[in-house]
Amino acid sequence: MRFASLGSGSKGNATLVAAGDSCLLVDCGFSARELERRLALVALDVSRLSGILVTHEHGDHIKGVWALARRHKLSVYMTGGTAKVAKAPADIDLHLITPQQCFQLGDIEVLPVAVPHDAREPVQFVFNYAGLKLGVLTDLGHISPHVLECYQRCDGLLVEANHDQTMLADGSYPYSLKQRVGGDWGHLNNEQTAELLSALEPRSLQALVVGHISQQNNALAVVQELIGPVAAAVPQLKYASQDDCVDWLALE
Ligand SMILES: [Zn+2]
Ligand SMILES: [Zn+2]
Repeated sequence: MRFASLGSGSKGNATLVAAGDSCLLVDCGFSARELERRLALVALDVSRLSGILVTHEHGDHIKGVWALARRHKLSVYMTGGTAKVAKAPADIDLHLITPQQCFQLGDIEVLPVAVPHDAREPVQFVFNYAGLKLGVLTDLGHISPHVLECYQRCDGLLVEANHDQTMLADGSYPYSLKQRVGGDWGHLNNEQTAELLSALEPRSLQALVVGHISQQNNALAVVQELIGPVAAAVPQLKYASQDDCVDWLALE
């Protein structure tokens, strides 16, 4: 099993998960053309994609989904709530998914996990293949007991460390947006991510990607200072960014 980040942040997210003969795209917050350009950077032909999974309707996750799906005849998987708010077009091969109901997509077993975030019916995903477990977990307002339970003992994890509380408070965002981002239905701050990682027993992790790092309200050095010690035992530790890909990380 392997995974790669094609970019992560408030201007666009996209993650690849591959195992056996299957390759899933989680979110497409870039234009279809930009997504294709980024696929080439990690040497994946778009014809290899088995489908698109969408976590929720925010633009940084859904922007290019319809165009990419149309252009390459890809099936799209999302919750009914997301499909409704996102006004899923009739010509898309849409599959509605239910939080907590596992389903099989080719060789990969997918578990959509309900998360606290200010969208209609947001989920994040846990993937299983041949005894390996990979979690993708961005856009999380707080650490719910349910999330803690579902993401235990992952072999690979992509998790958000969105903002530094002080930088958010002192930054240029309007008050209402500060409240939203920093609130229980917004995003994890760096301390919360460190706390989550500690609780998830990072010893099991072979690979960790820290993503959705705010360009306005966070700094890589600050994230590294907090996450580095918690993840010291993780063999492959990467920090995803908006502009660059994190190339394939293998789990075995
Ligand atoms: Zn997001
Ligand atoms: Zn969001």
